[in-house]
This record gives sequence, C-alpha cells and structure tokens, in this order.
Amino acid sequence: MKELRGISAAPGVAMGKAFLYTDDESPSIPRYGIRVGDIESEWARLTDAVRAAEEEVRELAERASLEMGVEHAKIFEAHLLMLGDPDLMEQIRDRLTAQKRNIEWVVWDLARDLYQKMSAAQDAYLRERAIDISDVSQRLLNRLLHVKKMSLAELPDDVVLVTHNLLPSDTLVMDKKRVKGIAMNMGGRTSHTAILARAFEIPAVLGLTEATREIASGDFVIVDGSSGIVLVNPEEAVVERYRGLTERMRADVSNLLSERDLPAVTTDGRRVALKANIEIPEEADHVLDHGAEGIGLYRSEFLFLSSGYKADEESQYEAYKRVIEALPGKPVTIRTLDVGGDKIIPELQEEEKNPLLGWRAIRFCLAHRELFKTQLRALIRASAAGDLRIMFPMISGIEEYEAALEVLEEAKAECRAKGHTCCDSLTVGLMVEIPSAAMTADILAARTAFFSIGTNDLVQYSLAADRGNERVAYLAQPFHPAVLRFIKTTIDAAHAAGIPAAMCGELAGDPMATAVLLGFGLDEFSMSAASIPLVKRIIRGSSAADCASLAEQALKLCSYRDVEALVRSWMDVRFPSLKSEL
Ligand code: PEP
Ligand code: MG
Repeated sequence: MKELRGISAAPGVAMGKAFLYTDDESPSIPRYGIRVGDIESEWARLTDAVRAAEEEVRELAERASLEMGVEHAKIFEAHLLMLGDPDLMEQIRDRLTAQKRNIEWVVWDLARDLYQKMSAAQDAYLRERAIDISDVSQRLLNRLLHVKKMSLAELPDDVVLVTHNLLPSDTLVMDKKRVKGIAMNMGGRTSHTAILARAFEIPAVLGLTEATREIASGDFVIVDGSSGIVLVNPEEAVVERYRGLTERMRADVSNLLSERDLPAVTTDGRRVALKANIEIPEEADHVLDHGAEGIGLYRSEFLFLSSGYKADEESQYEAYKRVIEALPGKPVTIRTLDVGGDKIIPELQEEEKNPLLGWRAIRFCLAHRELFKTQLRALIRASAAGDLRIMFPMISGIEEYEAALEVLEEAKAECRAKGHTCCDSLTVGLMVEIPSAAMTADILAARTAFFSIGTNDLVQYSLAADRGNERVAYLAQPFHPAVLRFIKTTIDAAHAAGIPAAMCGELAGDPMATAVLLGFGLDEFSMSAASIPLVKRIIRGSSAADCASLAEQALKLCSYRDVEALVRSWMDVRFPSLKSEL
C-alpha cells in the first residue's frame, strides 16, 4: 500500500479504480500526397467521419442538457451546426481537389487557417467561433485517425479521477455521476476546482504533486478527502476500516440534517443567516435540502465558462431567473462576472504574466463595458422574479465601486428604455476580498448596501500566496492574525454604517471558524450547501457572548498556530461529540 498526502479539498471518502486522465493526446497529423484517383475515397472517409462526429456531439448535447440544463448544451449545438455547414465542406472539397493531399492534412490545414483568421477578427462573434473551429476539427481528426480521445464527459463508471490538473471548465464538463473521487497533482483548498468538487460533493485531495506518477489506471485507491490522504492498493483490512468510516459519516450527515429546518440561532438568541454558494443554476434546486436560507453567492462566471462565453442577455436572464425562482421568497445574491485568475475564457483573455494580479473580475468588466452591461441588464430584468441582490467582485476601492455603479445606472436606463419594469430598489453590494478594500471598509460601507467577505482571495492577497499553488498552500492560513484583523475591521465598519456583513469565502463553511466569526459579529455565512448542517449545529450549540470572548482572545494572539490551538481546545470542550467531524 502506498500513502500519498495532499490537501484536503472536498470532504468524504471515495473508493474505486483509478482512471488516469491526461489531456496531451492530440494525435500527430500524417502528411502525404494523393493521386487524383484517390480523391473520392478520401472524401468518403471525411463524410463518414463527419457523420460519426455528429452522432458523438448529439450524445454529448443530450447528456449535458439532462445533467446540467439546456444552456450548457448550447455549445454542442453550435458544434453540430459547424459540422453540417455546407460552406465548410465546400472549402475542404476545393482544397482536397486542388492540393491533392490526404484528408487529415487538408482538414488540419484549413482549421488552422480559419482559427488564425477568426481569432484575430474585429467582430467579437467571429472570435467566439474560433475555439469552436478548433474543437470541431480536433473531433473530426480524431475520428479520421481512429483516435478515441479521452473525454471527461465520457468516463467509465465509478472511477477515481487521477490527473495533473483540472481547469474549472474541465470540472464542469466532467461526467460527475461517474466520478467518485478526485486525486490531483496541483491545486489548493480554495482553488476553484476544489470549490467545484465540494459543490458536487465529490471527495477530493489536491496538491498531491506526484499522483499521476504514483498511481496507474486500474489501481484500487481510497481518496480520503477529509484528511487529505490517498491510499493506493490498500490491504483489505484498511478497505474495511474505510467502509465503516463511510457508514458512520453517512449516519452523522443524516443526524445533522434532522435540524435542517431549525433556525441558525445561538443559545442566547443571536440569529444569523446561513446561505449557499452555487456555481451552476441547477445547484439551486438542491440547496434548500441542506437548510439554506437563500443563495449568498452565485458565481455567474461559470455560466460563461461552460458555454464558451456565448452567454447572451437572453440566456443569462433565463439562468438568473431560474436560480431566483428555485428559492421562492428567499434572497439570492448573484455576483457579476469574475473571470481571470484561474477562471480563464481563452477567447476573451490574453495570457498575462500575473493573472491573479491582473485583468480579473471588476477590472475586466469595466474594460469590457458592453459585456458587463449585457450581464447587468439580464440581472436587472431577472430581479423582477424575486429578491435579487447584485454583488461586485474584487473591488479595490471606492473609485472602482463607483465606476461599477455608473455602468449599472446605464444598464437600468437601457432596460427602462426597452420597457422593462426594473427594480429601482435593487440591492447592490460588494465583495471585500482585497486588503485595500478591507482597510477602507469604512469608506465603502457608506456607499453600499452590504459587504460579503471573500476570504479565499483575502487570504491569497494578504499573504501573497497563490491559492492554486500547492507549494505555497501552507501559507494560506485564514487564522493568520493579519486575516483576522481584516475580517474584524470589515465587520465593524459594516456595523458602524448600519449594513450587514456577510462572508462567502470558504472560511464561512469551515466549522472550526464558526465560533470566531460569530464572535466577530458576522451576520451571514454563505458556503457550499453540504457544509451548512454542521455549521448550523455549532451555531445552535454556542452562545454569542461566549464566542465574543473567544474572538477577543483570538485577536490578541501572535500566530495562526496559537489561534488554531485556542479554537481547538474551545471546540473540544463545547462540542466533544463533533470531534471526528472537525
Ligand atoms: C473568495 O475569494 O473568497 C470568493 C468567494 O470568491 P472566489 O472564490 O470565487 O474567488
Ligand atoms: Mg474571490
């Protein structure tokens, strides 16, 4: 048995056969000349490949639509149109006849020319299509060369996915029903792949560095996402122990869920709100099952990532309305597009030396005013469906916030001009996730309706440690005195201005942080839905006064280790029965 240690990214235990996923399988293209007499047989090979590819894409579209909703299937519809495009076929035919080259060479060459032309086009629509050309041509080439490209949408049943890295967009495409667990070389606890794994409740260990070298396809592995351990080919006794653990975990979860409908109120009567973070609209259907009282963060950028950013106003409006309608009468906070960093839309964004310090989120949106306004119009229109709150990400200071509000006003005016009854009373808030925002929280609080603290980025930027880089993951300590002070400053500034302070970073769902955050006076905790029951249990078992004195002590300590030790002993005394879950 081999034991690999990484970063605990999504809790729970998964056992199964490893499936090694590598994405470096683009086949090399054979190049040779053909005789005139071979033209028809080459053409026939192409038409066969087109038919097979069409079938493949149709299946993918069906599956995407069933599992993730129609918006997510749109990308495949575009591919189908492209595969059946007579103009494209004519261009291939002309080149085949004129150049007398094997069909793979012709397709590859034409696709490259089209890709270059389209990606350099002025017209945004054409640029969008460039990525489709490369996707469709690759599928055709795989068919022509009889390469069965390994696809994350077509995995065998019940696998533990072992991979070097998954982009957030890969995680979206992945056939989640077939993946029992994830073991990955790269990534940290608050990387977006980890966040998605938690959202889909797939146990995951990231930052393993050597997983793809140490594990072979077919090995039996146990992914212990709660402890950050992966066991390769364990003995039967170990498997039995983990089976028992899984059973106990299941019982613990159902026990916690029995309090689903009880309020999140402390023993001395302080009421807080517990909400869910979601990444795709369909998740909204299940958050109430975990006792969520609303959505505290909908990361709208995943809509753009999964549909190749063809999210026009109408499809966005439908997606936002769907989320709002899934939680009748409950508040829904939708965050405007936060692309950049590790969430790259290659067709929209150029490579940057320091993407995490670069053209991200609100900075990107303010520079792409029309794209931003399109999203804001869709949100304004969707606000008619319920209690919508709009939230701007990565605000660094008042100028940026005011610039975003200005675009919002323009979007409102456009909605009014088109006869949409838009909500003038729209609630607008901002994320505090950059140290400069936390330090000027008093200034920002005077202009906004609420704060939501994004601890994933706040930790990353306070400690200058890339949240996706496993080598510096040890630095990402939310109990670091600097981070605690930023959080406290932000909450105090909100309260002084009479606005609520929420938190939607991962710390909000960390049961070890619940008491300290309550002690700081946090009003709203938003987290992956599965984390809500345990956090609620802790809130209902704590007194606000007791938590306030814990928080006060924590603020006086010099290191995150001391804070951790203080909190652990506090929890051990008050929640001995939860020891195994913390
Ligand atoms: C955060 O930074 O804490 C946050 C919630 O936003 P994201 O994780 O999407 O960057
Ligand atoms: Mg963030």
